[in-house]
Amino acid sequence: MQSSAQVQSVSQSDTLASFWMPFTANRQFKAQPRLLATAKGMHYTAVDGRSILDATAGLWCVNAGHCRESIATAIAQQAQVLDYAPTFQMGHPAPFELADRLVQMLPGDLNRVFFANSGSEAVDTALKIALAYHQARGEAARTRLIGRERGYHGVGFGGISVGGISGNRKQFGSLLPGVDHLPHTHDLAQNAFTRGVPTWGAHLADDLERLVKLHDPSTIAAVIVEPVAGSTGVLIPPQGYLQRLRSICDRYGILLIFDEVITGFGRLGTAFAADYFGVIPDLMTVAKGLTNGAVPMGAVFARQGVHDAFMQGPEPSIELCHGYTYSGHPLACAAAMATLDIYATEGLFEQAQSISQYWEDAVHTLQGLPGIIDIRNIGLVAAIELAPWPDQPGKRAYDIFVQCFEAGLLIRVTGDIIALSPPLIIQRGQIDRMIDVLRQVLQSRG
Ligand code: PLP
Repeated sequence: MQSSAQVQSVSQSDTLASFWMPFTANRQFKAQPRLLATAKGMHYTAVDGRSILDATAGLWCVNAGHCRESIATAIAQQAQVLDYAPTFQMGHPAPFELADRLVQMLPGDLNRVFFANSGSEAVDTALKIALAYHQARGEAARTRLIGRERGYHGVGFGGISVGGISGNRKQFGSLLPGVDHLPHTHDLAQNAFTRGVPTWGAHLADDLERLVKLHDPSTIAAVIVEPVAGSTGVLIPPQGYLQRLRSICDRYGILLIFDEVITGFGRLGTAFAADYFGVIPDLMTVAKGLTNGAVPMGAVFARQGVHDAFMQGPEPSIELCHGYTYSGHPLACAAAMATLDIYATEGLFEQAQSISQYWEDAVHTLQGLPGIIDIRNIGLVAAIELAPWPDQPGKRAYDIFVQCFEAGLLIRVTGDIIALSPPLIIQRGQIDRMIDVLRQVLQSRG
C-alpha cells in the first residue's frame, strides 16, 4: 500500500507532466517545482504559503502591481456584457476607445494603433506593416529587415529572424531570408558599472551605414531595435546611439521600429522609451504593461504617414491583409483601459522616475561582491552581470535565482545576468529588502 506522502508526490508529478512549459528546462523544473498560488501588490504567495517579493513584475509586465481590483472588476464586468466580438469587417466600441486613449499618450504623430495579443504578434505585425508599406508606395524591392545582435523580439518567425539570440534561433532551420544584424552595444571594457546611459558606443549605430552600402538602401525596409534590450540582460543604449539610428534611417527612407514591449508603460520613468530618449520611431510595438499582464494583448503604433500610405487604393479594398481573431478583444481592452486609469491616477510613471535614483544607488551597493563583473541600470531596471563558472554558462546565475526564490525573492536570470524590473509601485523599503536578499545570496555562494 502507498503512504499518503507517496500518493501525493505521484499525483503531483502526474499533474506536472502534461504541461510542456515554455522556455523552461522541463525535467529540471518538474523534479523541483516552484509554484505560485496567489499575488497581491508587490508579492506572490507560493503554494507552500511563502511570500515572495516580486523583483521582475512577473515577466516585466505587472507594472501597476498584482491583482489590482479595478482591473479585475473591469474584466469581470466586460465578460458579462460582451464576451467576444469580431473586429474583421465588424466592430465594438472598446478598441476604438482604447486606441484613442493610447494615441493621447504617444509622442509625435504615432497615432494609429493595430491590436495583437502578445509582443511576438506585435513584432510580426510591425515587420509585415513595414514590408507592405514600401510595397504600397511602389518600393516593393525593400524587403530586407535589419535587427541587432542580442535583440529579443519574441518567438514568431519574424521575431526570431530579426532577433539576435542564437539559442532562440538555432533549433528552427532557415528563418526569414534577407535579414541582417547590427552589432550589439554591450562592451564591459568600456562601460562596466555605468549608471544610466553609457557615454561610449554611439558610433556602433554607424554600422547601419555599412549595411546600407552593402545591401543598397533600395532593398532595406526597416530596422528594429529594443531601445533598451531587456531579455538579453538589460543592454542600455549609448548616449546618442538611437538618435544616430534615427538619422541614418531618415537619410535612406528606412523605417525605424522600436520594440517597446518591455520599455513601454513607465519602465524608464516615462510613458515610453521614445519619450526618454527623445527619438520617435515610425512603428512601435508594445504588450505586457499595456494590460498590466492581466489579459494578453499587444499593439503596434504607427505614424500617420505609415498608415496613410495604405489608404490610397480603392475604398472597398482591405488595406492590410493581416489581423487576429482576438485583435481588440473586449476583455483585453477592458483590462488595458483600467490599467491606463491606474497609471494616470496614481502617477506611476512619475513614481518610477522619482524612485529611480534610490534604485540606482541601491543596486550599485552590490559592487564588489563575489563574481560581479558589471552592474547597470536605467529607470526601474537593473542588471547584475556575473562571471560565468568555467564550462557552465548560466549555472552561476541560475543557482542564485533558485536560492533567491527560496529566500522569498523572485528575480530573473538570463545567461549569467540577473535582471531586475520590479512593479513601478515599489517602495524604498522593498528595494532595501531586495538588495539585502541578493547581497546575502551572492555572499553565501562566493
Ligand atoms: N519583444 C520584446 C522586447 C520582449 O521583451 C518580448 C518578451 O519578453 C517580446 C517581444 C515577446 O513578447 P511575448 O512574450 O508577449 O510574445
